[in-house]
Amino acid sequence: MAVIGVDCGGTNMRAGRFDGDSIDPGPVVERQTPRSGDDLASAIVAMCGGLGSVAAVGVGVAGLVDHRTGDLLWMPHIGGGARLATSLAELTGLAVSVDNDANAAALAEARHGSGAGHRMVLMVTVGTGIGGGLVIDGKVERGRSHLGEIGHIPLDRGGPRCSCGLRGCWEALASGTALDRAAAELAEADPSGATAHLAGPESATGRVLVAAAAGGDRAASQALARVASWFGSGLAVMVSVFDPDVIVIGGGVASAGDSFLGPAREAMAAAVSGSGVRSPTPVVTGRFGDRAGMIGAAMMARDAAGV
Ligand SMILES: [Zn+2]
Repeated sequence: MAVIGVDCGGTNMRAGRFDGDSIDPGPVVERQTPRSGDDLASAIVAMCGGLGSVAAVGVGVAGLVDHRTGDLLWMPHIGGGARLATSLAELTGLAVSVDNDANAAALAEARHGSGAGHRMVLMVTVGTGIGGGLVIDGKVERGRSHLGEIGHIPLDRGGPRCSCGLRGCWEALASGTALDRAAAELAEADPSGATAHLAGPESATGRVLVAAAAGGDRAASQALARVASWFGSGLAVMVSVFDPDVIVIGGGVASAGDSFLGPAREAMAAAVSGSGVRSPTPVVTGRFGDRAGMIGAAMMARDAAGV
């Protein structure tokens, strides 16, 4: 029986239909995420209207979710208070699962992606912020409720301001936002350098910084490595706390590949205690890219419906 997997981000949301045991969606539909939580359930139903009859719907949301009730507690730009699973079930009559998007992505990578075959899989998504999900024996581990809010571990309280209001959180130092900041600073400090040149009249972004580094620009490579090194410092904390079998990296920054993950692995190894006597934790990029959340949401829908 088919299910629908929905990935609901702060700006856009999209959905795919997954037949049988498939992890490959058919045509994917997309639309803007509404600005109010009250409109979210009806917007999802409207978006998925053309995907045909299904047994269940799974939704991964970039926000805090009460997994037991499927209530959306908080989401950037939207806030909270939406009884998302209840509203979706009333509108569709289907089995519904609602969870955090990083948990959904982690489930997809652990069961069928880069974490497959490992018992304990930690997924770290690096985009605008940093999020995480932990899967043990094929099941999402939630701690008391919200395990995985790893972006705000404090690494340098004298560091840059974070979206949460504090300073020097992991995501303030090592996310796509940090890469954007490093690129802008480099372009301003060196207007004749490769980063400023590639950016042209636009402000330099992390994507430009990665391209400049790939083109052999030394200053760009160094700036990229500094951000990546902070990312590795946070990974070392993850290893110290969880000691997972594998760490899978997802999110937009993962597409930078080894130019980012290389220095990150080195910084991680240098900061993990006993690194000379323990085998290094594998740090790999995800298999499913930006579709991991949607695929994981579909798996959660199957679990919820027992299909
Ligand atoms: Zn923070």
